Amino acid sequence: MAEVKYVFVTGGVASSLGKGIISSSLAKLLQSRGYNVTIQKLDPYINIDPGTLNPYEHGECYVTIDGAETDLDLGHYERFLNVHTTQANNVTTGRIYKTVIEKERRGDYLGKTVQVIPHITDEIKRRIKLVGKTDEYDIVITEIGGTVGDIESLPYIEAVRQMKWDQGLSNCMVIHLTLVPFLKASGEHKTKPTQHSVKALLEAGIQPDVLVLRTEEELTEDVKEKVALFCNVDKQSVVQSVDVSSIYEVPVKMLEEGLDITVLNRLKLELKDEPPLIAWRDFLRKQANPKSEVNIGLVGKYVELPDAYKSIVESFAHGGASNECRVNLQLLHSEEITAYNAESQFGHLDGIAVAPGFGARGIEGKIIAVKYARENNMPFFGICLGMQCAVIEFARNVLNYKDADSTEMNPDTDYPVIDLMEEQKNITYKGGTMRLGGYKCRIQKDSRAFEIYYKEEVTERHRHRYEFNDKYLKDFENAGMIATGINPESQLVEIMEIPRHRWFIGVQFHPEYSSTVVKPHPLFVEFIKACCGEKNEIE
Ligand code: GLN
Repeated sequence: MAEVKYVFVTGGVASSLGKGIISSSLAKLLQSRGYNVTIQKLDPYINIDPGTLNPYEHGECYVTIDGAETDLDLGHYERFLNVHTTQANNVTTGRIYKTVIEKERRGDYLGKTVQVIPHITDEIKRRIKLVGKTDEYDIVITEIGGTVGDIESLPYIEAVRQMKWDQGLSNCMVIHLTLVPFLKASGEHKTKPTQHSVKALLEAGIQPDVLVLRTEEELTEDVKEKVALFCNVDKQSVVQSVDVSSIYEVPVKMLEEGLDITVLNRLKLELKDEPPLIAWRDFLRKQANPKSEVNIGLVGKYVELPDAYKSIVESFAHGGASNECRVNLQLLHSEEITAYNAESQFGHLDGIAVAPGFGARGIEGKIIAVKYARENNMPFFGICLGMQCAVIEFARNVLNYKDADSTEMNPDTDYPVIDLMEEQKNITYKGGTMRLGGYKCRIQKDSRAFEIYYKEEVTERHRHRYEFNDKYLKDFENAGMIATGINPESQLVEIMEIPRHRWFIGVQFHPEYSSTVVKPHPLFVEFIKACCGEKNEIE
Protein backbone atom coordinates (compact mmCIF):
# COMPACT_ATOMS: atom_id res chain seq x y z
CA MET A 1 0.00 0.00 0.00
CA ALA A 2 1.25 3.47 -0.90
CA GLU A 3 2.25 5.71 1.96
CA VAL A 4 -0.21 8.33 3.15
CA LYS A 5 0.84 11.87 2.25
CA TYR A 6 0.41 14.70 4.72
CA VAL A 7 -0.28 18.32 3.82
CA PHE A 8 -0.22 20.88 6.63
CA VAL A 9 -1.90 24.24 6.31
CA THR A 10 -0.68 27.01 8.60
CA GLY A 11 -1.68 30.66 8.76
CA GLY A 12 0.22 33.89 9.27
CA VAL A 13 -0.17 37.68 9.43
CA ALA A 14 -3.82 37.67 10.52
CA SER A 15 -6.50 35.27 11.65
CA SER A 16 -9.70 34.58 9.69
CA LEU A 17 -7.92 34.40 6.33
CA GLY A 18 -9.84 31.29 5.44
CA LYS A 19 -7.49 28.34 6.02
CA GLY A 20 -10.56 26.12 6.14
CA ILE A 21 -11.71 27.27 2.69
CA ILE A 22 -8.24 26.89 1.16
CA SER A 23 -7.86 23.43 2.71
CA SER A 24 -11.32 22.42 1.50
CA SER A 25 -10.68 23.80 -1.99
CA LEU A 26 -7.38 21.97 -2.34
CA ALA A 27 -9.02 18.80 -1.02
CA LYS A 28 -11.82 19.20 -3.56
CA LEU A 29 -9.34 19.45 -6.45
CA LEU A 30 -7.32 16.46 -5.26
CA GLN A 31 -10.51 14.47 -4.75
CA SER A 32 -11.65 15.38 -8.27
CA ARG A 33 -8.35 14.06 -9.60
CA GLY A 34 -9.16 10.69 -8.09
CA TYR A 35 -7.45 10.82 -4.70
CA ASN A 36 -9.11 9.95 -1.42
CA VAL A 37 -8.63 12.96 0.77
CA THR A 38 -9.68 13.97 4.24
CA ILE A 39 -9.12 17.10 6.28
CA GLN A 40 -8.34 17.42 9.95
CA LYS A 41 -8.43 20.53 12.12
CA LEU A 42 -6.14 20.99 15.11
CA ASP A 43 -7.45 23.67 17.47
CA PRO A 44 -5.05 25.19 19.98
CA TYR A 45 -7.61 25.99 22.70
CA ILE A 46 -7.98 24.11 25.97
CA ASN A 47 -11.67 23.22 25.74
CA ILE A 48 -12.01 19.50 24.98
CA ASP A 49 -14.35 20.47 22.14
CA PRO A 50 -16.32 23.57 21.11
CA GLY A 51 -19.56 22.05 22.46
CA THR A 52 -19.31 24.11 25.64
CA LEU A 53 -18.45 27.34 23.80
CA ASN A 54 -20.96 30.12 23.38
CA PRO A 55 -21.54 30.67 19.62
CA TYR A 56 -20.34 34.27 20.08
CA GLU A 57 -16.91 32.87 21.00
CA HIS A 58 -16.21 30.59 18.11
CA GLY A 59 -19.18 30.54 15.77
CA GLU A 60 -21.35 27.50 15.25
CA CYS A 61 -20.59 24.15 16.81
CA TYR A 62 -20.68 21.59 14.00
CA VAL A 63 -21.82 18.03 14.71
CA THR A 64 -20.52 14.98 12.85
CA ILE A 65 -22.54 11.85 12.13
CA ASP A 66 -20.64 10.00 14.91
CA GLY A 67 -21.77 12.62 17.42
CA ALA A 68 -18.64 14.75 17.81
CA GLU A 69 -19.12 18.44 18.58
CA THR A 70 -16.52 20.09 16.40
CA ASP A 71 -15.14 23.26 14.86
CA LEU A 72 -17.24 24.84 12.13
CA ASP A 73 -14.45 24.27 9.59
CA LEU A 74 -15.45 20.61 9.53
CA GLY A 75 -18.73 21.83 8.07
CA HIS A 76 -16.80 23.36 5.17
CA TYR A 77 -14.87 20.12 4.68
CA GLU A 78 -18.08 18.11 4.41
CA ARG A 79 -19.87 20.67 2.24
CA PHE A 80 -16.95 20.78 -0.22
CA LEU A 81 -15.99 17.10 -0.24
CA ASN A 82 -19.40 15.52 0.28
CA VAL A 83 -17.84 12.95 2.65
CA HIS A 84 -18.39 12.47 6.37
CA THR A 85 -15.87 13.55 8.96
CA THR A 86 -15.60 12.07 12.46
CA GLN A 87 -14.30 12.91 15.91
CA ALA A 88 -10.76 12.12 14.70
CA ASN A 89 -10.96 15.05 12.27
CA ASN A 90 -10.99 17.63 15.05
CA VAL A 91 -8.52 17.64 17.93
CA THR A 92 -8.02 20.37 20.53
CA THR A 93 -5.19 21.09 22.95
CA GLY A 94 -7.60 20.11 25.72
CA ARG A 95 -8.07 16.66 24.20
CA ILE A 96 -4.32 16.19 23.68
CA TYR A 97 -3.49 17.15 27.27
CA LYS A 98 -6.34 15.05 28.66
CA THR A 99 -4.94 11.96 26.94
CA VAL A 100 -1.39 12.63 28.10
CA ILE A 101 -2.43 13.37 31.68
CA GLU A 102 -4.61 10.23 31.85
CA LYS A 103 -1.63 8.20 30.60
CA GLU A 104 0.58 9.78 33.25
CA ARG A 105 -1.93 8.87 35.96
CA ARG A 106 -2.03 5.30 34.70
CA GLY A 107 1.73 5.18 35.03
CA ASP A 108 2.34 4.68 31.32
CA TYR A 109 5.38 6.95 31.31
CA LEU A 110 7.28 4.74 33.74
CA GLY A 111 8.61 7.43 36.05
CA LYS A 112 9.70 9.83 33.28
CA THR A 113 9.18 13.60 33.45
CA VAL A 114 6.23 14.34 31.17
CA GLN A 115 7.01 17.29 28.88
CA VAL A 116 5.67 19.24 25.91
CA ILE A 117 8.45 17.71 23.81
CA PRO A 118 8.27 14.77 23.31
CA HIS A 119 5.06 13.75 25.08
CA ILE A 120 2.61 16.40 23.91
CA THR A 121 4.13 16.56 20.42
CA ASP A 122 4.05 12.73 20.21
CA GLU A 123 0.37 12.75 21.08
CA ILE A 124 -0.28 15.43 18.42
CA LYS A 125 1.56 13.31 15.83
CA ARG A 126 -0.34 10.18 16.92
CA ARG A 127 -3.64 12.01 16.37
CA ILE A 128 -2.54 13.20 12.93
CA LYS A 129 -1.42 9.73 11.87
CA LEU A 130 -4.55 8.13 13.31
CA VAL A 131 -6.58 9.71 10.51
CA GLY A 132 -4.08 8.45 7.90
CA LYS A 133 -3.97 4.93 9.37
CA THR A 134 -7.50 4.02 8.44
CA ASP A 135 -6.34 2.97 4.92
CA GLU A 136 -9.14 5.08 3.55
CA TYR A 137 -7.07 8.04 2.48
CA ASP A 138 -4.21 8.82 0.11
CA ILE A 139 -3.81 12.35 1.40
CA VAL A 140 -4.54 13.89 4.82
CA ILE A 141 -4.73 17.68 4.94
CA THR A 142 -4.24 18.99 8.47
CA GLU A 143 -5.16 22.57 9.23
CA ILE A 144 -3.44 24.13 12.23
CA GLY A 145 -5.76 26.60 13.94
CA GLY A 146 -4.52 30.03 15.01
CA THR A 147 -1.63 32.01 13.57
CA VAL A 148 2.07 31.14 13.47
CA GLY A 149 3.80 32.82 16.40
CA ASP A 150 0.88 32.31 18.83
CA ILE A 151 2.06 30.79 22.09
CA GLU A 152 -0.73 28.21 21.98
CA SER A 153 0.11 26.82 18.55
CA LEU A 154 3.82 26.25 19.25
CA PRO A 155 3.53 22.51 20.08
CA TYR A 156 1.56 21.95 16.86
CA ILE A 157 4.17 23.73 14.75
CA GLU A 158 6.88 21.66 16.44
CA ALA A 159 4.91 18.47 15.70
CA VAL A 160 4.70 19.49 12.03
CA ARG A 161 8.47 20.09 11.96
CA GLN A 162 9.03 16.60 13.33
CA MET A 163 6.51 15.04 10.95
CA LYS A 164 8.44 16.40 7.98
CA TRP A 165 11.47 14.40 9.10
CA ASP A 166 9.61 11.32 10.39
CA GLN A 167 7.58 10.84 7.23
CA GLY A 168 10.21 11.78 4.68
CA LEU A 169 10.25 15.03 2.76
CA SER A 170 8.24 13.84 -0.23
CA ASN A 171 5.45 12.56 2.03
CA CYS A 172 4.89 15.75 3.90
CA MET A 173 4.54 19.39 2.97
CA VAL A 174 3.49 22.73 4.43
CA ILE A 175 1.24 25.32 2.83
CA HIS A 176 1.36 28.69 4.54
CA LEU A 177 -1.53 31.12 4.10
CA THR A 178 -0.83 34.81 4.56
CA LEU A 179 -2.25 38.21 3.72
CA VAL A 180 -0.80 40.68 1.23
CA PRO A 181 -2.43 44.04 2.00
CA PHE A 182 -2.75 46.86 -0.49
CA LEU A 183 -1.57 50.20 0.89
CA LYS A 184 -3.57 52.96 -0.71
CA ALA A 185 -1.13 55.67 0.39
CA SER A 186 1.76 54.12 -1.54
CA GLY A 187 -0.43 52.49 -4.16
CA GLU A 188 1.16 49.06 -3.85
CA HIS A 189 0.84 45.60 -2.37
CA LYS A 190 3.00 44.98 0.66
CA THR A 191 4.85 41.70 1.06
CA LYS A 192 6.70 42.46 4.30
CA PRO A 193 4.08 40.93 6.65
CA THR A 194 4.33 37.70 4.61
CA GLN A 195 8.13 37.76 4.79
CA HIS A 196 7.95 38.18 8.57
CA SER A 197 5.47 35.43 8.98
CA VAL A 198 7.60 33.02 6.91
CA LYS A 199 10.54 34.05 9.11
CA ALA A 200 8.53 33.06 12.17
CA LEU A 201 7.97 29.64 10.60
CA LEU A 202 11.67 29.33 9.74
CA GLU A 203 12.58 30.11 13.33
CA ALA A 204 10.42 27.15 14.31
CA GLY A 205 12.38 25.02 11.84
CA ILE A 206 9.83 24.91 9.03
CA GLN A 207 10.42 26.02 5.45
CA PRO A 208 6.97 26.32 3.86
CA ASP A 209 6.66 24.59 0.49
CA VAL A 210 3.80 26.65 -0.89
CA LEU A 211 2.59 30.13 -0.03
CA VAL A 212 -1.02 31.11 -0.60
CA LEU A 213 -1.41 34.87 -0.56
CA ARG A 214 -4.81 36.30 0.32
CA THR A 215 -5.40 39.58 -1.44
CA GLU A 216 -8.29 41.88 -2.28
CA GLU A 217 -6.96 42.64 -5.78
CA GLU A 218 -4.91 40.60 -8.31
CA LEU A 219 -1.20 40.53 -7.54
CA THR A 220 1.34 41.41 -10.23
CA GLU A 221 3.98 38.90 -11.28
CA ASP A 222 6.55 41.17 -9.64
CA VAL A 223 4.91 40.81 -6.25
CA LYS A 224 4.84 37.01 -6.57
CA GLU A 225 8.49 36.98 -7.68
CA LYS A 226 9.46 39.10 -4.72
CA VAL A 227 7.69 36.78 -2.28
CA ALA A 228 9.31 33.76 -3.93
CA LEU A 229 12.77 35.31 -3.67
CA PHE A 230 12.49 36.39 -0.04
CA CYS A 231 10.73 33.29 1.20
CA ASN A 232 12.84 30.58 -0.51
CA VAL A 233 10.11 29.07 -2.67
CA ASP A 234 9.91 28.82 -6.45
CA LYS A 235 7.48 31.16 -8.16
CA GLN A 236 5.15 28.32 -9.14
CA SER A 237 4.64 27.73 -5.43
CA VAL A 238 3.43 31.26 -4.77
CA VAL A 239 -0.31 31.21 -5.29
CA GLN A 240 -2.69 34.13 -4.99
CA SER A 241 -6.17 33.82 -3.55
CA VAL A 242 -8.14 36.88 -4.59
CA ASP A 243 -11.41 37.81 -2.81
CA VAL A 244 -14.42 36.25 -4.53
CA SER A 245 -18.14 36.70 -4.01
CA SER A 246 -18.84 33.07 -3.08
CA ILE A 247 -16.54 30.74 -1.12
CA TYR A 248 -17.50 28.02 -3.60
CA GLU A 249 -15.57 29.82 -6.35
CA VAL A 250 -12.30 29.23 -4.51
CA PRO A 251 -11.66 25.66 -5.84
CA VAL A 252 -12.00 26.95 -9.40
CA LYS A 253 -9.63 29.84 -8.62
CA MET A 254 -7.12 27.43 -7.06
CA LEU A 255 -7.39 25.22 -10.14
CA GLU A 256 -6.52 28.22 -12.31
CA GLU A 257 -3.56 28.92 -10.05
CA GLY A 258 -2.40 25.30 -10.40
CA LEU A 259 -2.34 24.71 -6.64
CA ASP A 260 -3.32 21.05 -7.04
CA ILE A 261 -0.52 20.42 -9.58
CA THR A 262 2.07 22.13 -7.39
CA VAL A 263 1.01 19.98 -4.43
CA LEU A 264 0.94 16.70 -6.39
CA ASN A 265 4.37 17.41 -7.89
CA ARG A 266 5.78 18.24 -4.49
CA LEU A 267 4.37 15.00 -3.02
CA LYS A 268 5.60 13.01 -6.05
CA LEU A 269 2.09 11.87 -6.88
CA GLU A 270 0.73 11.22 -10.35
CA LEU A 271 -1.28 14.15 -11.77
CA LYS A 272 -4.10 11.93 -13.11
CA ASP A 273 -6.87 13.65 -15.08
CA GLU A 274 -7.65 17.33 -14.76
CA PRO A 275 -10.65 17.70 -12.45
CA PRO A 276 -13.79 18.38 -14.51
CA LEU A 277 -15.80 19.68 -11.51
CA ILE A 278 -19.00 19.31 -13.54
CA ALA A 279 -21.52 19.32 -10.68
CA TRP A 280 -19.53 22.01 -8.94
CA ARG A 281 -19.51 24.35 -11.92
CA ASP A 282 -23.19 23.67 -12.47
CA PHE A 283 -23.84 24.82 -8.90
CA LEU A 284 -21.76 27.99 -9.46
CA ARG A 285 -23.61 28.75 -12.68
CA LYS A 286 -27.00 28.42 -10.98
CA GLN A 287 -25.86 30.43 -7.98
CA ALA A 288 -24.66 33.27 -10.21
CA ASN A 289 -27.74 33.30 -12.49
CA PRO A 290 -30.86 33.02 -10.35
CA LYS A 291 -34.25 33.07 -12.10
CA SER A 292 -36.24 34.04 -9.04
CA GLU A 293 -35.75 35.68 -5.69
CA VAL A 294 -37.15 35.16 -2.16
CA ASN A 295 -36.85 36.92 1.17
CA ILE A 296 -36.55 34.53 4.07
CA GLY A 297 -36.27 35.56 7.71
CA LEU A 298 -34.01 33.49 9.94
CA VAL A 299 -35.00 34.21 13.53
CA GLY A 300 -32.27 33.65 16.10
CA LYS A 301 -30.54 35.33 18.98
CA TYR A 302 -26.92 35.10 17.85
CA VAL A 303 -27.53 37.14 14.70
CA GLU A 304 -24.72 39.64 15.42
CA LEU A 305 -22.33 36.87 14.40
CA PRO A 306 -23.48 35.18 11.17
CA ASP A 307 -20.88 32.41 11.78
CA ALA A 308 -23.16 31.26 14.61
CA TYR A 309 -25.54 29.96 11.91
CA LYS A 310 -22.88 28.98 9.38
CA SER A 311 -24.34 25.63 8.30
CA ILE A 312 -27.86 27.05 8.02
CA VAL A 313 -26.66 29.98 5.91
CA GLU A 314 -24.73 27.60 3.63
CA SER A 315 -27.68 25.20 3.39
CA PHE A 316 -29.81 28.08 2.14
CA ALA A 317 -27.11 28.82 -0.44
CA HIS A 318 -27.16 25.17 -1.63
CA GLY A 319 -30.95 24.99 -1.66
CA GLY A 320 -31.20 28.38 -3.37
CA ALA A 321 -28.87 27.38 -6.21
CA SER A 322 -30.71 24.11 -6.67
CA ASN A 323 -33.95 26.12 -7.14
CA GLU A 324 -32.09 28.68 -9.29
CA CYS A 325 -33.37 31.17 -6.77
CA ARG A 326 -31.58 33.98 -4.97
CA VAL A 327 -32.31 33.63 -1.26
CA ASN A 328 -32.05 36.94 0.57
CA LEU A 329 -31.61 35.58 4.07
CA GLN A 330 -32.46 38.20 6.67
CA LEU A 331 -31.17 37.48 10.13
CA LEU A 332 -33.78 38.71 12.61
CA HIS A 333 -32.96 39.17 16.27
CA SER A 334 -35.52 37.29 18.34
CA GLU A 335 -35.13 39.69 21.27
CA GLU A 336 -36.35 42.54 19.09
CA ILE A 337 -39.57 40.82 18.03
CA THR A 338 -42.81 41.69 19.83
CA ALA A 339 -46.49 41.03 19.14
CA TYR A 340 -46.76 44.71 18.14
CA ASN A 341 -44.01 44.79 15.53
CA ALA A 342 -44.59 41.31 14.01
CA GLU A 343 -46.18 42.72 10.86
CA SER A 344 -43.28 45.08 10.18
CA GLN A 345 -40.74 42.34 10.96
CA PHE A 346 -42.33 39.61 8.84
CA GLY A 347 -44.90 41.17 6.49
CA HIS A 348 -42.47 41.54 3.58
CA LEU A 349 -41.08 37.99 3.87
CA ASP A 350 -41.81 34.91 1.77
CA GLY A 351 -40.96 32.49 4.57
CA ILE A 352 -39.76 32.23 8.17
CA ALA A 353 -37.18 29.86 9.63
CA VAL A 354 -36.55 29.65 13.37
CA ALA A 355 -33.03 28.72 14.37
CA PRO A 356 -31.64 26.33 16.98
CA GLY A 357 -30.55 27.69 20.34
CA PHE A 358 -30.28 27.27 24.08
CA GLY A 359 -31.75 29.03 27.11
CA ALA A 360 -34.70 31.35 27.70
CA ARG A 361 -33.25 34.54 26.20
CA GLY A 362 -35.11 35.51 23.02
CA ILE A 363 -37.53 32.59 23.15
CA GLU A 364 -40.73 34.68 23.17
CA GLY A 365 -39.70 36.45 19.94
CA LYS A 366 -39.25 33.07 18.30
CA ILE A 367 -42.69 31.97 19.43
CA ILE A 368 -44.21 35.17 17.98
CA ALA A 369 -42.43 34.41 14.68
CA VAL A 370 -44.00 30.93 14.59
CA LYS A 371 -47.43 32.38 15.36
CA TYR A 372 -47.10 34.87 12.51
CA ALA A 373 -46.13 32.15 10.03
CA ARG A 374 -48.86 29.79 11.17
CA GLU A 375 -51.65 32.36 11.15
CA ASN A 376 -50.61 33.93 7.84
CA ASN A 377 -50.10 30.62 6.03
CA MET A 378 -46.49 31.64 5.39
CA PRO A 379 -43.96 28.80 4.84
CA PHE A 380 -42.35 27.92 8.17
CA PHE A 381 -39.29 25.82 8.94
CA GLY A 382 -38.26 25.20 12.56
CA ILE A 383 -34.93 23.62 13.38
CA CYS A 384 -34.34 21.97 16.77
CA LEU A 385 -35.28 24.78 19.20
CA GLY A 386 -37.25 26.19 16.24
CA MET A 387 -39.36 23.02 16.21
CA GLN A 388 -39.75 23.17 19.98
CA CYS A 389 -41.00 26.78 19.66
CA ALA A 390 -43.54 25.65 17.06
CA VAL A 391 -44.81 23.05 19.53
CA ILE A 392 -45.04 25.58 22.37
CA GLU A 393 -46.83 28.09 20.14
CA PHE A 394 -49.37 25.51 19.00
CA ALA A 395 -49.98 24.40 22.59
CA ARG A 396 -50.53 27.95 23.82
CA ASN A 397 -52.57 29.37 20.94
CA VAL A 398 -54.39 26.41 19.43
CA LEU A 399 -54.74 23.95 22.31
CA ASN A 400 -55.18 26.81 24.79
CA TYR A 401 -52.59 25.44 27.22
CA LYS A 402 -51.97 28.91 28.55
CA ASP A 403 -48.50 28.68 30.05
CA ALA A 404 -47.26 25.79 27.88
CA ASP A 405 -43.48 25.79 27.68
CA SER A 406 -40.30 23.80 27.52
CA THR A 407 -38.97 22.88 30.96
CA GLU A 408 -35.67 24.32 29.73
CA MET A 409 -37.31 27.77 29.85
CA ASN A 410 -39.88 27.24 32.63
CA PRO A 411 -39.36 24.19 34.84
CA ASP A 412 -42.65 24.90 36.67
CA THR A 413 -44.97 25.09 33.67
CA ASP A 414 -48.33 23.31 33.96
CA TYR A 415 -47.91 22.07 30.39
CA PRO A 416 -44.36 20.80 29.80
CA VAL A 417 -44.93 20.11 26.10
CA ILE A 418 -41.14 20.00 25.64
CA ASP A 419 -39.38 18.19 28.42
CA LEU A 420 -36.02 16.74 29.36
CA MET A 421 -35.32 13.32 27.95
CA GLU A 422 -35.41 10.61 30.61
CA GLU A 423 -31.74 9.70 30.12
CA GLN A 424 -30.77 13.37 30.53
CA LYS A 425 -32.36 13.81 33.94
CA ASN A 426 -29.37 12.78 36.06
CA ILE A 427 -26.65 14.29 33.90
CA THR A 428 -24.62 17.04 35.59
CA TYR A 429 -21.66 17.35 33.19
CA LYS A 430 -22.33 19.76 30.32
CA GLY A 431 -19.62 18.67 27.86
CA GLY A 432 -20.53 16.06 25.24
CA THR A 433 -23.62 14.84 27.10
CA MET A 434 -26.45 15.91 24.78
CA ARG A 435 -28.23 13.59 22.35
CA LEU A 436 -25.58 13.92 19.67
CA GLY A 437 -24.98 12.69 16.14
CA GLY A 438 -26.90 10.51 13.73
CA TYR A 439 -30.19 8.87 14.74
CA LYS A 440 -32.78 7.21 12.57
CA CYS A 441 -36.09 8.80 11.79
CA ARG A 442 -39.01 6.79 10.35
CA ILE A 443 -41.22 8.89 8.12
CA GLN A 444 -44.97 8.53 7.85
CA LYS A 445 -45.90 7.76 4.28
CA ASP A 446 -48.78 10.14 3.64
CA SER A 447 -46.98 13.25 4.85
CA ARG A 448 -45.21 16.28 3.45
CA ALA A 449 -41.99 15.00 5.03
CA PHE A 450 -42.31 11.85 2.91
CA GLU A 451 -42.96 13.88 -0.25
CA ILE A 452 -39.76 15.76 0.53
CA TYR A 453 -37.45 12.87 1.38
CA TYR A 454 -39.21 10.21 -0.64
CA LYS A 455 -37.84 7.68 1.85
CA GLU A 456 -39.37 5.79 4.74
CA GLU A 457 -36.26 6.03 6.87
CA VAL A 458 -33.53 8.66 7.09
CA THR A 459 -30.65 9.35 9.46
CA GLU A 460 -30.22 12.90 10.69
CA ARG A 461 -27.86 14.55 13.16
CA HIS A 462 -28.92 15.76 16.59
CA ARG A 463 -27.76 18.12 19.30
CA HIS A 464 -30.32 18.62 22.03
CA ARG A 465 -31.37 17.60 25.53
CA TYR A 466 -35.10 18.28 25.40
CA GLU A 467 -37.78 16.58 23.31
CA PHE A 468 -41.45 16.63 22.45
CA ASN A 469 -43.44 15.30 25.41
CA ASP A 470 -45.26 12.25 24.09
CA LYS A 471 -47.98 12.56 26.66
CA TYR A 472 -49.54 15.40 24.62
CA LEU A 473 -49.22 13.86 21.16
CA LYS A 474 -52.89 12.88 20.80
CA ASP A 475 -54.05 16.42 21.65
CA PHE A 476 -51.70 17.89 19.05
CA GLU A 477 -52.69 15.43 16.36
CA ASN A 478 -56.41 15.92 17.01
CA ALA A 479 -55.91 19.67 16.58
CA GLY A 480 -53.92 19.35 13.34
CA MET A 481 -50.22 19.20 14.21
CA ILE A 482 -48.92 15.74 13.33
CA ALA A 483 -45.77 13.83 14.23
CA THR A 484 -44.66 12.59 10.80
CA GLY A 485 -41.15 11.51 11.80
CA ILE A 486 -40.45 9.22 14.74
CA ASN A 487 -37.27 7.52 15.93
CA PRO A 488 -37.95 3.79 15.40
CA GLU A 489 -36.01 2.71 18.53
CA SER A 490 -36.85 5.32 21.16
CA GLN A 491 -40.15 6.55 19.65
CA LEU A 492 -38.95 10.14 20.14
CA VAL A 493 -40.71 12.66 17.92
CA GLU A 494 -38.39 13.91 15.16
CA ILE A 495 -40.68 15.83 12.78
CA MET A 496 -43.87 17.82 13.42
CA GLU A 497 -45.94 19.27 10.62
CA ILE A 498 -49.28 20.99 10.04
CA PRO A 499 -50.74 19.37 6.91
CA ARG A 500 -53.42 21.98 6.34
CA HIS A 501 -50.82 24.78 6.31
CA ARG A 502 -49.03 25.75 3.06
CA TRP A 503 -45.66 24.49 4.36
CA PHE A 504 -45.12 24.13 8.08
CA ILE A 505 -42.43 21.75 9.28
CA GLY A 506 -40.43 21.56 12.49
CA VAL A 507 -37.56 19.10 12.90
CA GLN A 508 -35.88 18.12 16.14
CA PHE A 509 -32.67 17.31 14.26
CA HIS A 510 -30.24 19.49 12.31
CA PRO A 511 -30.58 19.02 8.55
CA GLU A 512 -28.12 21.88 8.02
CA TYR A 513 -25.20 19.66 9.09
CA SER A 514 -25.68 17.36 6.14
CA SER A 515 -26.34 19.72 3.25
CA THR A 516 -23.50 19.84 0.72
CA VAL A 517 -22.86 21.67 -2.55
CA VAL A 518 -23.51 18.65 -4.75
CA LYS A 519 -26.20 17.22 -2.45
CA PRO A 520 -28.31 20.03 -1.00
CA HIS A 521 -30.57 18.94 1.82
CA PRO A 522 -34.11 18.24 0.55
CA LEU A 523 -35.77 20.09 3.45
CA PHE A 524 -33.99 23.31 2.52
CA VAL A 525 -34.60 22.76 -1.19
CA GLU A 526 -38.32 22.22 -0.66
CA PHE A 527 -38.73 25.00 1.91
CA ILE A 528 -37.19 27.48 -0.53
CA LYS A 529 -39.38 26.10 -3.32
CA ALA A 530 -42.45 26.68 -1.14
CA CYS A 531 -41.29 30.24 -0.37
CA CYS A 532 -40.82 30.88 -4.09
CA GLY A 533 -44.40 30.00 -4.91
CA GLU A 534 -45.22 31.22 -8.40
CA LYS A 535 -44.17 34.78 -7.90
CA ASN A 536 -40.82 36.51 -7.44
CA GLU A 537 -39.51 35.90 -10.93
CA ILE A 538 -36.50 37.93 -11.92
CA GLU A 539 -37.23 39.71 -15.21
N1 GLN B 1 -32.09 23.88 23.80
C1 GLN B 1 -32.83 22.85 23.12
C2 GLN B 1 -32.46 21.48 23.65
O1 GLN B 1 -31.42 21.30 24.27
C3 GLN B 1 -32.60 22.92 21.62
C4 GLN B 1 -31.19 22.67 21.21
C5 GLN B 1 -30.89 23.12 19.81
O2 GLN B 1 -31.60 23.92 19.21
N2 GLN B 1 -29.77 22.64 19.26
O3 GLN B 1 -33.21 20.55 23.47
